[in-house]
Amino acid sequence: MSKKKNRAGNRAKTPGSGAWKITYKKFKPAQEGLREALCTLGNGYFGTRGAATESSASRIHYPGTYIAGLYNKLSTFIAGKTVYNEDLVNCPNWLFLTFRIGNGEWITPSTSKILSYHQELDIKRGIFIRKISLQDRQGRRTTIETRRIVHMARPHCAAISYEITPENYEGWIVIRSALDGTVQNTGVARYRQLNSKHLKPDALGHFGKNGIYLAVKTSQSRVRIAQASSLRIFIDKKEKKAVSRILTKEKKGICQDFRIFTGKKNRVVVEKNISIYTSKDKGVKNPLSAAINSVKKSGRFSELLKTHIRSWSALWKKADIQIDGDTFTQQVIRLHAFHLFQTASQHNVSIDAGLPARGLHGEAYRGHIFWDELYAMPFFDFHVPEISKALLLYRYRRLQNARKYARENRYKGAMFPWQSGSTGEEETQVIHLNPLSGQWGADHSRIQRHVSFAIAYNTWKYWERTRDRDFFNKYGAELILSIAQFGASLAKYNPADGKYHTKGVMGPDEFHEKLPKAPKPGFKDNAYTNVLIAWTLGRGLETADILSKKRKERLFRKLGITQKELNRWDDISRHMNLIINNDGIISQFDGYFSLKEINWDAYKKKYDNIQRMDRILKAEGKSPNDYKVSKQADVLMLFYLFTLPEIKELFTRLGYRINRAILKKNYDYYVRRTSHGSTLSKVVHCYVANMIGRSKEAWGWFQEVLKSDINDIQGGTTPEGIHAGVMGGSIDIVLRGYAGVHIAGDRVKLTPSLPRAWNRMSFDICHRGGNISFQITKHSAAILLHGDRRRKVSIEINGKEKICTGGKIYRMVLNNK
Ligand code: BGC
Repeated sequence: MSKKKNRAGNRAKTPGSGAWKITYKKFKPAQEGLREALCTLGNGYFGTRGAATESSASRIHYPGTYIAGLYNKLSTFIAGKTVYNEDLVNCPNWLFLTFRIGNGEWITPSTSKILSYHQELDIKRGIFIRKISLQDRQGRRTTIETRRIVHMARPHCAAISYEITPENYEGWIVIRSALDGTVQNTGVARYRQLNSKHLKPDALGHFGKNGIYLAVKTSQSRVRIAQASSLRIFIDKKEKKAVSRILTKEKKGICQDFRIFTGKKNRVVVEKNISIYTSKDKGVKNPLSAAINSVKKSGRFSELLKTHIRSWSALWKKADIQIDGDTFTQQVIRLHAFHLFQTASQHNVSIDAGLPARGLHGEAYRGHIFWDELYAMPFFDFHVPEISKALLLYRYRRLQNARKYARENRYKGAMFPWQSGSTGEEETQVIHLNPLSGQWGADHSRIQRHVSFAIAYNTWKYWERTRDRDFFNKYGAELILSIAQFGASLAKYNPADGKYHTKGVMGPDEFHEKLPKAPKPGFKDNAYTNVLIAWTLGRGLETADILSKKRKERLFRKLGITQKELNRWDDISRHMNLIINNDGIISQFDGYFSLKEINWDAYKKKYDNIQRMDRILKAEGKSPNDYKVSKQADVLMLFYLFTLPEIKELFTRLGYRINRAILKKNYDYYVRRTSHGSTLSKVVHCYVANMIGRSKEAWGWFQEVLKSDINDIQGGTTPEGIHAGVMGGSIDIVLRGYAGVHIAGDRVKLTPSLPRAWNRMSFDICHRGGNISFQITKHSAAILLHGDRRRKVSIEINGKEKICTGGKIYRMVLNNK
């Protein structure tokens, strides 16, 4: 995109261009980390950062490959204690491919004289493209054109096409390709004091005329990771048999050199195909032979490319949202959908992995799984619900550990960990480093019990959007009921006020860990958690009605749920405590109103960036616990998750009053006290601002949401991995926010409020097994219900209902102001 204002009024600084691409015209070492994250390629099974093939980990480059669900735990003695950290393992770097002219230096973009540079992420086709022209000290000019894919249809495969053209010389060149298992997890500076060596040597060698392989083992989880690579070289379309030499490094790295003579302007085409298997793969006995066999059969780059593109185009057919009038939004939501599919795809059906908060794109938060899927689930539910199901099954398989975790904390039912990795045990660190002060401090964030209710919410929404009864019967009901049991055990009745209360928990706002001077972390009556408990118990009761008598009896017996317990759930769902002041402001937790106000203007003047007020206050010797300063939306989360009619029903059942005016007051109150230290916060503020009709304000938030990753607005977090939550959230704003798509019972409801810059939006949703296409302008809506005449769906637009029949197009006039 050019620097000129686009039609939406954005001034997009980086990067270019068009609605299906991002391009970079210059090599900028300082931006390389960000580009690597944004140009990551993946297919749900594994992801590889968009690093230069010629690079190894350095201050500029960080090639990283992460396999979904592949973790390893190490201990470190630090700040006076032994801590254990489970990391998403940085697997051997399969990308490595470079060359040298004669006996010259190995080529890398960071050490060469660059004459021209063009890098492109082709979002539509899932290709990383780079064209670079270099000159060495002897004045020899070379053009390198490279394309790279991580195959979307063949989850174990990736391929590179690397074309070298000597522009003004001829002679011998040496091509070097490697599989490098000497890599460590050193991608995040803050974690570098912690142990990061996860890989142990296992096997390496070569096969056939041009193949090499490498197998390593993770030190604690004992997963065998095998990679095989084959390299073919062509000049003028003729395959060359080059002289090859094999070298090894620390028993964990293997490379092969090919010497080739090339004439001036003769294009040398190098094709590197690789394959990755692990001992975790289902139905794979020997990952090494699986990798070797797979690479032997992989064919030419052009053939792989064809099937890869086909697979992406099938995904776009289901999930592309078209926005006419606003190229920037169009580009970014496509980029976001692209990275979501690369983090969790149709392959997740046969993988046991959740949605890591930072994708398969980097090492921030150690590849852990938080509650962030809450923001991305609507995208998957509406487009490829099999993926949602796979993500929910990751949770279901960890129910035993969630039950154990609840028991250990004297609760009932299933309590999921705040941060989850391989086993579903709690993986949240106990201490963390404040980069501003260099001090290690206690981390209490694990007491965010709301993560369990987010899982219940995701399960319920999946059911509501798909009516996948098989899933509900086998897994969904058990998840909801087990989490409801946990919620009920968190709630304690106080006869003095006739209310149920919770204590010892934190809401999403991570700046507040405890009340000033309180001996222990946690709060009483976090409003968000309390309302979610009431809601979950309501769904627990509904679940009992949905199940057949037989299933219900069986499940209730298994979980030990009695009629008495159901009666208690009903009572809690009517008497959960909320603290609401005379102005209608919902207190984030008991005691919030007594905290001190902060002088926001003074802090804004003193610091360039005040998003991480916690770190600033701590470095100043103060505590965020003392102030009304929130990291992210907490109370306002309620209005993100529920429509106004839904929240009214919930509040009325609890005996409280809520309406649009009160919601506005709450928005105004909390927006002034939030520093948005999490990108998720802006998603929620955008959605809620739009909900209360503040379209200009919502638009401002939306721009921030869109820029979160593409412009790395937190100043350094995106290079460590994309933000899957904000990526999902941005699309959620478009669908649930601007198009106003909601499923209410059996009805699909739409309340469009298109931003000024948009002329038209078109999208499909998958609704209960069939598709519906929508095309919305400011004044009209067209709906096509796919399928035949037997299919009927009730669709309501701005309150007007139509019973639509399959195969027919419906047009409606919208009376938007
Ligand atoms: C946010 C959490 C989020 C986590 C992972 C934190 O900064 O406060 O809400 O789950 O990042 O994205």
